[in-house]
Amino acid sequence: MDGMIENSIAARDIRYLVHGSVDLARQRQNPPTMINGGKGIFIFDENGTPYLEAAAGMWCTALGFSEEELIEAATEQMRKLPYYHTLAYKSVTPAAELAEKLAALVPIENAHLYFALSGSEANDAFIKFAWYVNNALGRPEKKKIIARKNGYHGATLGSASLSGISANHKLFDLPIANILHVSDPHYYRNGLPGESEAEFVDRLVGEVEALILAEGPDTVAAFVAEPVTGAGGVVIPPAGYYTKLQAVLDRYDVIFHADEVINGFLRTGKMWGSEAMGIRPTTMSMAKAITSAYMPLSALALPSWFYDAMERGSTEVGVFGHAATYAGHPVSCAVALKMLEIVERRNLKAHVETVGARFKERILAFKDHPLVGDVRVIGLMGAIEFVTDKANKTSFVPTGSFAKRLRDHAEERQKLIVRAVPAGDSCAFSPPLVITIEEVDEMFDRFAKALDEVT
Ligand code: PLP
Repeated sequence: MDGMIENSIAARDIRYLVHGSVDLARQRQNPPTMINGGKGIFIFDENGTPYLEAAAGMWCTALGFSEEELIEAATEQMRKLPYYHTLAYKSVTPAAELAEKLAALVPIENAHLYFALSGSEANDAFIKFAWYVNNALGRPEKKKIIARKNGYHGATLGSASLSGISANHKLFDLPIANILHVSDPHYYRNGLPGESEAEFVDRLVGEVEALILAEGPDTVAAFVAEPVTGAGGVVIPPAGYYTKLQAVLDRYDVIFHADEVINGFLRTGKMWGSEAMGIRPTTMSMAKAITSAYMPLSALALPSWFYDAMERGSTEVGVFGHAATYAGHPVSCAVALKMLEIVERRNLKAHVETVGARFKERILAFKDHPLVGDVRVIGLMGAIEFVTDKANKTSFVPTGSFAKRLRDHAEERQKLIVRAVPAGDSCAFSPPLVITIEEVDEMFDRFAKALDEVT
């Protein structure tokens, strides 16, 4: 804890609070920056220094850090009924209303909604719903789930197993049984020399089909993917990938579960990543922007045939034995209802389209930089991938991530928060959706300065 005041809040933080996914040895020299306030797209540290938050926290604060209407909605609900559960033949009005509202919004016919508290929990629950439904339908062998390398679906045992990131598996004896992984559709990084995008698509879709046939179609239940991979580096699969993939999945009666935890609620410019990518999902998970992250909430959308199988299963094989104290929490649901009302009333879609055009123009301009290998962008999410030389796409990673160095520098010198993500070596941008055109310019101006200073 060199250089840190012994009783500062940062010192007390690391003395008592366990932070996940952090190098705890390094943390001793680099205690956390304490964030104590927020306004619009800015956050403030304990000294009052503002930082431009280009990552929306964890891709989640869609309405920024000071939306009074969300605060009011939470306060009002707390006063009316701070808590009641949705178990034991009881329910609460905000949960019922939110389920009705989401059912009308998701691209799933006659959808039914299940509520949880985090993206991890929703994806974990998906595994249990899929397994239960196949048991109830009398096909107990249909349990395997295919996910993708470099995808991220959460941190619980099931959702971390779906994730395709080795750090989430290696020291935890994961993945659990019945979870398989296929190649990441990141053409720039994983395309073979001389391979066209169309050939790449055919190779990856062929890999999925070969895996289904090798495992036996009767044993494969689902394919899980983020329409646009978020934490894995804003990976946008090439044209044709999802159409061909879905044709294969349909052939073998394998459902598509879309993880919309980052993509959902206009991040890609469309309401859903599935819509942006032309996916017909069977089931969907969503979280983060559903409440603009002001309260914890996630949801799982299920088609009516899932619900019907569960209803019949209740008497035929036994009830779906899964529930949670906070499922459908009234305060979270009240905030989500207000978030969705604001999205419509303020026409956030049109706003994202307008600022998204400037966002795209500004981020693509980095493509000419000598250390930039690839730039990927859709809606208000984008990534810049760094290489030591453009021709060979050589990554910095073996000698130390450039993206992480740049991220640290941008935060310290330019007071700009960006994410450093895998998928090669990339900096990712996912600002609050309420960002203005002037703020988009300021964000990339600060980033350009940081890049100049580091190179
Ligand atoms: N799915 C995706 C696509 C995510 O990006 C994340 C988190 O970043 C999760 C699931 C897990 O969500 P949570 O961190 O709320 O558990």
